[in-house]
Amino acid sequence: MLLLPIPAFDDNYIWLFSDGQAAWVVDPGDAAPVIATLQERQLTLAGILLTHHHGDHTGGIAALRERFAVPVYGPAKPPARELVSHPLRDGDCLQLGHRQFSVIAVPGHTLDHIAFHSATDKLLFCGDTLFSAGCGRVFEGTYEQMHASLQLLAALPDDTRVCCAHEYTLSNLRFAVAVEPDNQAMRDYQASCESLRSTGQPTLPSLLGLEKQVNPFLRCSDVAEFSARREWKNRY
Ligand code: ZN
Ligand code: FE
Repeated sequence: MLLLPIPAFDDNYIWLFSDGQAAWVVDPGDAAPVIATLQERQLTLAGILLTHHHGDHTGGIAALRERFAVPVYGPAKPPARELVSHPLRDGDCLQLGHRQFSVIAVPGHTLDHIAFHSATDKLLFCGDTLFSAGCGRVFEGTYEQMHASLQLLAALPDDTRVCCAHEYTLSNLRFAVAVEPDNQAMRDYQASCESLRSTGQPTLPSLLGLEKQVNPFLRCSDVAEFSARREWKNRY
C-alpha cells in the first residue's frame, strides 16, 4: 500500500493511500496539491474521506468533486454533513477497495469530528484530534469529551500508524518536554524529529505505542490533569 502525506498550506498534510490505480485522500483542504500528486503518480481518485468541517480540511472538496465526481465519506453530524455524500456514525464500517475502516466518533476539537481506523492495515486517520506529541485545541466540545476521545484512540493497538493532519510535532515537543522534563523518550524523539525536519521530511506517520510514551495528552491520569495541560498549552 502506498501511504503519502501531501503537504498543503503551511503545515497541513492531506493523506493519500492507494493500492495500485485507485487512490483516496483524507481532508483535502486544497485541491491543487492533490491533483498534482495524482498526475505525478498516475493515480485515479476514488474517494475523499473527511474528519471534520474546518476549512483547512474541506477547502479542496468542491474542486476535486467537480473534476472526479467521487464520493465523500464523512461525519453524519452538521456542519460537515452538508459536504458529505456517505454520512458516517460512530461504529460504522467502511469498505474502500480491499481496505476496511471503522469509524470512531471523537468529539472535542469539533463536535462532528470522526476518525478512521483500519485494524488490518494498522492505520489511523485522526484529523485534528490526536497530533504527534500533542492534540487539537478544544474548540466546540468539552475537555471531558476531548479526553474521552483521546482515550478511545489510545486504546487502539500500539503498532497503529497515526496519520495526523498537521505537522505540529516539533512545537508540540517543546511543550511536552516542559511538562515532563525527565522523560528521556521525549528527548530522543525530539532529536529524531529535529533531524527529519531539518531535511524537510515529515515526522508522520507516528506510532501509537510511541505516542503513549511521548504525548503529554495521552499521559494524563484524569480529565482534570488533561484540562490543566490543555489550558497550559493554549497559553504556551
Ligand atoms: Zn480543525
Ligand atoms: Fe486543521
